Amino acid sequence: MPQAKLTDRFGRTVNYVRLSVTDRCDFRCVYCMAEDMTFLPRQQVLTLEEIARLARNFVALGTEKIRLTGGEPLVRKDILELVREVGTYGLRDFAMTTNGSQLPTMAEKLRKAGLHRLNISLDSLDSEKFRSITRTGNLQQVLDGIDAARDAGFRGIKLNTVVMKGRNDEEIPELIEFARKKQVDISFIEEMPLGEISEHDRGLALCTSEEVREIIRRRHELIPVAKDSGGPARYYQMPDSDVRVGFISPHSHNFCSTCNRVRVTVEGRLLLCLGNEHSVDLRRVLRGNPVTDDKLQQAIIDAMDLKPERHHFSSNGEVQILRFMNMTGG
Ligand code: SAM
Ligand code: SF4
Repeated sequence: MPQAKLTDRFGRTVNYVRLSVTDRCDFRCVYCMAEDMTFLPRQQVLTLEEIARLARNFVALGTEKIRLTGGEPLVRKDILELVREVGTYGLRDFAMTTNGSQLPTMAEKLRKAGLHRLNISLDSLDSEKFRSITRTGNLQQVLDGIDAARDAGFRGIKLNTVVMKGRNDEEIPELIEFARKKQVDISFIEEMPLGEISEHDRGLALCTSEEVREIIRRRHELIPVAKDSGGPARYYQMPDSDVRVGFISPHSHNFCSTCNRVRVTVEGRLLLCLGNEHSVDLRRVLRGNPVTDDKLQQAIIDAMDLKPERHHFSSNGEVQILRFMNMTGG
């Protein structure tokens, strides 16, 4: 492994990069997108070669973990080629976040192409509710996708659930039983104020991680997992199961002091923090003349000075960040 070279002004080492491979998606989840989204023109979007080049240079700077995300990464044409390429970079951890709709046909191919782990979003086990949250999604397709992922033998599979009051909070016990039955981990996420939405009031819908834990504790003891991954999620286990239950709580638990990650949007904007606008245009460097790996690496190293100390999400649902999650790369 190369020496870690990415350190910010607060002494945090950055060794985890989330790369958004598309802003497009086959779903329109109510917390993530407006119903009538306009997507980026193709020439503004990085090519797969440009994304791979970025990934390679981050690895040269000590990145050990890459997650491909979006938008929906599996709607990007030729995504398997990118997975195959990045799979050769010797990463300690190579993961993808997906809505699962394409997994029935893609899971095994992704595993064979070298992907280690999958996060699959699942907000409801009721097909009508699932449709109303995702606006276009088909629950059965995603459930089949989860089974296909299990069969494909990934190192780890985790479900992600954004909890909204009055929407899917009543399903928390069912989702826990589902995760236990399928032997996959599950994380509950507090909705973040990214992008302007009119479909619901985020302040009213916020269900805090503590509230979710209380609901789970009615049926199961939750024992904190001693060794934390250092990421934003806090993990617990139930006494009679290996399944880990995570909580991602941007509102109620500030995890910024251990932040080890940056994101790159599909336009090549390096985002230093999910909850701030600080960014550097890497596409300009990638499309400069001449473009060299040295220039690219220097731009990434220089960007570390912009990484802010913390985010300032408030819990009243007020939008502080105008970009939607599908642009940010969740
Ligand atoms: N399309 C893929 C999926 O849904 O898993 C990957 C991209 S999606 C933006 C990544 C994750 O961000 C999903 O688990 C989604 O539920 C979550 N997400 C989207 N908008 C969010 C928001 N406003 N607050 C919290 N989580 C959000
Ligand atoms: Fe698409 Fe994922 Fe956003 Fe839902 S959360 S609209 S699946 S990008």
